[in-house]
Amino acid sequence: TPPLAGKRALVTGGARGIGAAIALKLAEDGADIAITYEKSAEKAEALVAEIRAMGRKAIAIRADAARTEAARATVEQTIAELGGLDILINNAGVLFASDFSTQPLEEIDLQLNINVRGVLLVTQEALKHIPNGGRIISIGSNAGLAVPFVGIAVYAATKSALESFTRGLARELGSREITVNLVRPGPIDTDMNPADGALAPAILPNLSIVRYGKAREVAEAVAFLAAPGAGYITGWAFSSTVALALEHVGAAP
Ligand code: NDP
Repeated sequence: TPPLAGKRALVTGGARGIGAAIALKLAEDGADIAITYEKSAEKAEALVAEIRAMGRKAIAIRADAARTEAARATVEQTIAELGGLDILINNAGVLFASDFSTQPLEEIDLQLNINVRGVLLVTQEALKHIPNGGRIISIGSNAGLAVPFVGIAVYAATKSALESFTRGLARELGSREITVNLVRPGPIDTDMNPADGALAPAILPNLSIVRYGKAREVAEAVAFLAAPGAGYITGWAFSSTVALALEHVGAAP
């Protein structure tokens, strides 16, 4: 039997990039899947069709993570369509690179509202349904740990916030054996951070494994944490695929 047979997973921002790779991997591992999207309707429907062809249930829910009621409603829709929710993957996120001193408030608000507030909203709603033994896995960033170049101060702050939220919530949910963990992808070749994009020259010199990772490599780490065997791992942050060199983390401002 596949390790996640009978489980129901909700992946926010699951139509493309890292979220899509996670949705596919969890489906391969046996889970039924709900994804949310904001703009990528066609990609969402194509992914749903691909997962259904694998014999799993799949639904796509349009919901802007920055809008309170829409974000909360994704959980109700998941329960209604899949019959429950066992695994929540907080993946949706945005990055607006800019010097903070001149960054427009709109970009600051979007990063806070999608990367942090949206995660809190969906997680709180999900906790009404996730049974004992469930899983909450958030996608952080190595930028939540060290900030090796200019222009991502607010983004880094949002990802640090998820790290401490993960630790705090792990404490709260331990008695229910719901594990709460975070995966920090290294630089992953997606629309947000293309391997041939503007951020690449600043990123590559700081890596231990000197290449961009693939979305699938993040999905593998998430699947490990979602699986029954990881039931005694909680409050943990897992640097997937690529770690910033440790000496750099120590020296980072
Ligand atoms: P992409 O830009 O490729 O995808 C972003 C995803 O987030 C899309 O599915 C998008 O949905 C969704 N999203 C954005 N805004 C909203 C919103 N308002 N409401 C709902 N969904 C939204 O990024 P990645 O796949 O690279 O990033 C996924 C996660 O991984 C993010 O949290 C990111 O911070 C993190 N990460 C990425 C790294 C990288 O190098 N790529 C490194 C470290 C962390 P839609 O298209 O429908 O708008």
